[in-house]
Amino acid sequence: MLTEHDIRRLDALYAALEQATERFLGYPVSKDFEMAPLERFLRFPMNNLGDPFVESTFAVGTRGFECEVVDFVADLLRARAGETWGYVTNGGTEGNLYGLYLARELLPNGVVYFSEDMHYSVVKNIHFLGLRSIMIRSQPNGEIDYEDLAETLRINRDKPAILFANVGTTMTEARDDIVKIRDILDQFAIRDRYIHSDAALCGGFAPFLEPRPAFDFADGADSVSISGHKFFGSPMPCGIVIARKRHVERIARSIGYIGSLDTTITGSRNGFTPLVLWYRIKELGVEGLRRRAASALELATYAEERMKAAGIAAWRNPQALTVVFPKVSDAIKARWQLATQEQQSHLIVMPNVTRAQIDALVDDMVAERREHCSADSTSISHLSEKSGQA
Ligand SMILES: *Cc1c(COP(=O)(O)O)cnc(C)c1O
Repeated sequence: MLTEHDIRRLDALYAALEQATERFLGYPVSKDFEMAPLERFLRFPMNNLGDPFVESTFAVGTRGFECEVVDFVADLLRARAGETWGYVTNGGTEGNLYGLYLARELLPNGVVYFSEDMHYSVVKNIHFLGLRSIMIRSQPNGEIDYEDLAETLRINRDKPAILFANVGTTMTEARDDIVKIRDILDQFAIRDRYIHSDAALCGGFAPFLEPRPAFDFADGADSVSISGHKFFGSPMPCGIVIARKRHVERIARSIGYIGSLDTTITGSRNGFTPLVLWYRIKELGVEGLRRRAASALELATYAEERMKAAGIAAWRNPQALTVVFPKVSDAIKARWQLATQEQQSHLIVMPNVTRAQIDALVDDMVAERREHCSADSTSISHLSEKSGQA
């Protein structure tokens, strides 16, 4: 039984989350969703186990809604009707694992190529699957170095190639161009190939960018993974993976126990998140998503300009929502939850970020620098302690 103390702890957690959400600029999650109409569904033990497109004996679930989400996203990714299949995952990582799993089933002796700016989960996924891999250099902006890729493929042209493309790298939101990657594969006549797009970050808005990044099925992807809690927004992590149907057919097994096909990775699957994504998609529609992308982009431009005007060496990849700047102090990193790696920090202008938050962050950075300048003459140790970078 819950004690008074337990109840107070829940209240304290609620208050802390409310406050932490207010200053949350460093990770790519949207917060502007309203899920009250879906709260009543939390009464049911929903589970979409098995293949969403094949009925299961387990009927407490949201399979039909999940299929609509998959079809909507496949359309955004310019898949031809009937060409692809997909499901709602636990997040981008599961979708990446799924893409690599399909690739391994098709090309068991394949070598995975990915750039050094890949998401940290990729190496682990490759390890799970026991695949051979080669890391390719990145350009300074975070995009794969096509020359290094070409040189490496030239030496390995006798082996099937599995290309893992970053469509929005974690630190700088650089996008590998899969049309350029295909051209390189063509150049060395590597026919046994598989291209996976890790569009965890950008998949939700890349379809609305002009020029459109080369990352989807029309561009030649075999599978694409997108996170649902990033651009779309969800109270719990989720994602969508879409793959070419002919690849998936090679791994499908019929399972009598669930009365469905085992085409996904986990057994039980979340029945609530497909509903969340469906709701978001219905609420926003294609035009709403397009407007969301445009206003976020506008604000990202503002953030970059505002920082530069304050003397901060900020920069952005073309059409990116991620603004990169020199590593901030530990105090600012904690206060604004800014992801920091080596000498860089970043801010990701997801659709819910406001101009006021950006102004407040920049004011903070400027104020701290001023404080340091005056502290400089009095106490050096104070400075190094505060900035955390000395
Ligand atoms: C966020 C992200 C991932 C991981 O996705 P999750 O939804 O957190 O599992 C993988 N790759 C890239 C490029 C990402 O931005």
